[in-house]
Amino acid sequence: MQKAEIYCPECKWVPPGLPLWRCLDVCGNVWDTFATGGVCPKCHEKFEHTQCLSCWKLSPHKNWYHYPKKAPKELLEKLNKKKSTKVNSKEVINV
Ligand SMILES: [Zn+2]
Ligand SMILES: [Zn+2]
Repeated sequence: MQKAEIYCPECKWVPPGLPLWRCLDVCGNVWDTFATGGVCPKCHEKFEHTQCLSCWKLSPHKNWYHYPKKAPKELLEKLNKKKSTKVNSKEVINV
């Protein structure tokens, strides 16, 4: 299982792992949104968008997770296999 790198998709700001996000309009709780995948631990409200505290842009929460690319050799083998068998498969990422 690969660990995702978490940073702002706009400016690459890395969240410090501190409770800096507020559950706006719902319960007012403050917590680290990346520890819970955008879910308020108090009222369980799910936030689809997360605001960057560096550039202040609002991005979809899942866009903050960046998965490292596979080794180039492995990737080439995969591509060659796909070409020969003409299989088109969707990659699903669970966040
Ligand atoms: Zn809440
Ligand atoms: Zn940012």
